Amino acid sequence: MIKEEVFELEQKYIAHTYVRPPFVLEGGSHSTVYDTEGNAYLDMVAGIAVNALGYGDPEIVQTIQRQSALLIHVSNLYHTAPHVRLARKLCETSFADKVFFCNSGAEANEGALKFARKWARVNFGEGKTSVMAFTGAFHGRLFGSLALTPREKYQAPFRPLMPGVRFAEFNNLEDAREKAGDDLCAIFVEPIQGEGGIHPAAPEFLRGLREIADQHNALLVFDEVQCGLGRTGYLWAHQGYGVEPDIMTVAKPIAGGLPMGAVLMTDRVASVIEPGDHGSTFAGGPLVSSVAEVVVGRISDPMFLAVVRKKGKFLENLLRDMQKSSSHVVDVRGKGLMWGIELDFEAKKVVEAGYERGLLTVNAGPNVLRLVPPLIVSEEELNRAVEIIYDIIENI
Ligand SMILES: *Cc1c(COP(=O)(O)O)cnc(C)c1O
Repeated sequence: MIKEEVFELEQKYIAHTYVRPPFVLEGGSHSTVYDTEGNAYLDMVAGIAVNALGYGDPEIVQTIQRQSALLIHVSNLYHTAPHVRLARKLCETSFADKVFFCNSGAEANEGALKFARKWARVNFGEGKTSVMAFTGAFHGRLFGSLALTPREKYQAPFRPLMPGVRFAEFNNLEDAREKAGDDLCAIFVEPIQGEGGIHPAAPEFLRGLREIADQHNALLVFDEVQCGLGRTGYLWAHQGYGVEPDIMTVAKPIAGGLPMGAVLMTDRVASVIEPGDHGSTFAGGPLVSSVAEVVVGRISDPMFLAVVRKKGKFLENLLRDMQKSSSHVVDVRGKGLMWGIELDFEAKKVVEAGYERGLLTVNAGPNVLRLVPPLIVSEEELNRAVEIIYDIIENI
């Protein structure tokens, strides 16, 4: 199909929730994607922090071929092996004792909300249903997760949302302390905020939230949908902070681009969950779970994570140098291979200019350019990406 035909059919048949750039992607390899006209794009987006192992990974391709011929889906009415092996791996590599699988990040946070409510109700009775979240947070676009996402543009057309949510300022422990209360069942926080502009939590902030949650008998929920699974150079972002949650939500990269989410929890939380409390037709099916086994297995290898940390440091140095030599760079923030470049103009302009130069980037908020490349990206590719970005910034 030629690209003009794709644009026309999209206009005619696809609900208009996205504005897309003027090319059509049809292939990819390693950290590069190709459009229908043969143009190559070095990819610093990775399907929004999803394609951690890049494009065309042979083990992922083989796993999909083998497992899809065997069994794709039978529903959660029946026993299958891949999801139990995956859950064991997730628990062995984290604080968690039990896993609930679902199909996306928003769904994982909805599940976490339900489990926190159930936990509070079983242990403390009625009325302990409120939730604390933070300015700049992004937890998803469903009615519970949207209620935890304080962006007027996202929330306004859809009110009323889930009630009982209060917001404290991110990285402001005093504010969180003031707004906490015994009516809280959970505190939701991203250890590194993604969509909100790549803001890492301060270590004392996460430690303080752990204390506040314990003081008020509330659960601490880490949303690691974007920052988790190797992105920061640690398997789980909070492992770089030395603070453990009661629940962690995971999604984006876990199944190599197939849709999957997961709610990881301690036995303290899981003990209140009974058959019928929650469920999903598709979740944890044999195909997605087999692919996720490959992804989690590869990324949890300490050697793989050490290389991510090394490349992360390399990228950090490039970005700090760029900040020194460009008056348009206000700040650079991040960890591992998750970085934000705050500009003194709209980041969208750099994203658009990148398309002409064979580079994919994405913004995180109006003025922050976000880099979340495949974790298998090379230092040479990181160097090339930063050179193009610097050139665009200086010539815009
Ligand atoms: C993307 C994201 C979500 C939502 O995930 P979906 O799969 O798009 O529903 C939730 N939390 C964080 C931190 C995210 O980055």
